[in-house]
Amino acid sequence: MSRYMSARFEKLEAYVPGEQPQDMQYVKLNTNESPYPPAPGVLAAVNAGEIGRLNLYPDPEGRALREKLAERYGVEADNVFLANGSDELLSFAFMAFCDGERPVAFPNISYGFYPVYANLYQVPYTEIPLKEGFILDPADYCGLHRNIVIANPNAPTGRAVPVQGIEEIVRTNPDHVVLVDEAYINFGGESCLPLIQKYGNLLVCQTFSKFRSLAGGRLGFAVADQGLIADLEKIKYSTNSYNINRLTAAAALATLDSDSYYADNSRKIQENRAYTRLELNKLGFETIPSLANFIFIRCPQVEGGALYRALKARGVLVRHWDRAEISDWLRVTIGTREQMDIFLDRIREILKEAG
Ligand code: PMP
Repeated sequence: MSRYMSARFEKLEAYVPGEQPQDMQYVKLNTNESPYPPAPGVLAAVNAGEIGRLNLYPDPEGRALREKLAERYGVEADNVFLANGSDELLSFAFMAFCDGERPVAFPNISYGFYPVYANLYQVPYTEIPLKEGFILDPADYCGLHRNIVIANPNAPTGRAVPVQGIEEIVRTNPDHVVLVDEAYINFGGESCLPLIQKYGNLLVCQTFSKFRSLAGGRLGFAVADQGLIADLEKIKYSTNSYNINRLTAAAALATLDSDSYYADNSRKIQENRAYTRLELNKLGFETIPSLANFIFIRCPQVEGGALYRALKARGVLVRHWDRAEISDWLRVTIGTREQMDIFLDRIREILKEAG
């Protein structure tokens, strides 16, 4: 920190994103990207004209894309908010809805950005412990009198709460915002998005980064009651009114025309997830049932950090956290069958060496 930085950030610990090695030599199973490229129509849409229009600002309202998403989800464009990745959406939501009088709660093991945003905006937060086996009990969140953020399915565990459980949380906290982060909803989970018709305090966030193969484009969106969306708009227009660039908007519009391509990819990922889990279980690993495009695993013989390093030395990147509660665990993104076979082969080698 230089002597010029505001003292209020002295204790702020920034989020550390997963490694993004630029040489691309690794089998990259560390940041939950799709192993499949965008659909051919997406490349065509970006190349067709948008590049030539980069001298012009994009539509600050993102009308075309909001209307298309609204049509998809049976809502109005005013129920849809666009952000530069769901990270920006989360940032805006923490800024808009949380403060000293409106503190926030989230699970103790969840997406690492939640406490960072709480600290950034100086919002008091409560971390609610998951139950044994990383299970989230909705009863812990009912009538909490706080804003609530829940990743569903959760990261890094992959476990999901049924819609009924989410509804109980939303119903019993009518004076607070319940943000459901559905970054990983399209790999077998059930979205609670239809509930926004019933509850004005529910904010459902999704992303184009995972299922829709557009992590590099940076696009997240929220669906909620118009009141909540208007609040987010106010923050956006006070931060960066052109937050979605032209190329990303064109790519996202075309993405929504290629449903069967993405559904097919999700089916393959779900098959590879089941295959990988089965093979790891045969090797004695503990694995958490996942509805996301990753699995959370624990090796009985080799400690988490050591296994992460041994895999990296063999060209496979996975995610490991140096936090006591989960330091024995690794989060492994589900890639293609070929990638998962390489991962499993390296695991077998490491286990053999460990004796
Ligand atoms: N929420 C969760 C639970 C995530 O794991 C991620 C990805 N790291 C995000 C949100 C952010 O995704 P993006 O900004 O790429 O939309």
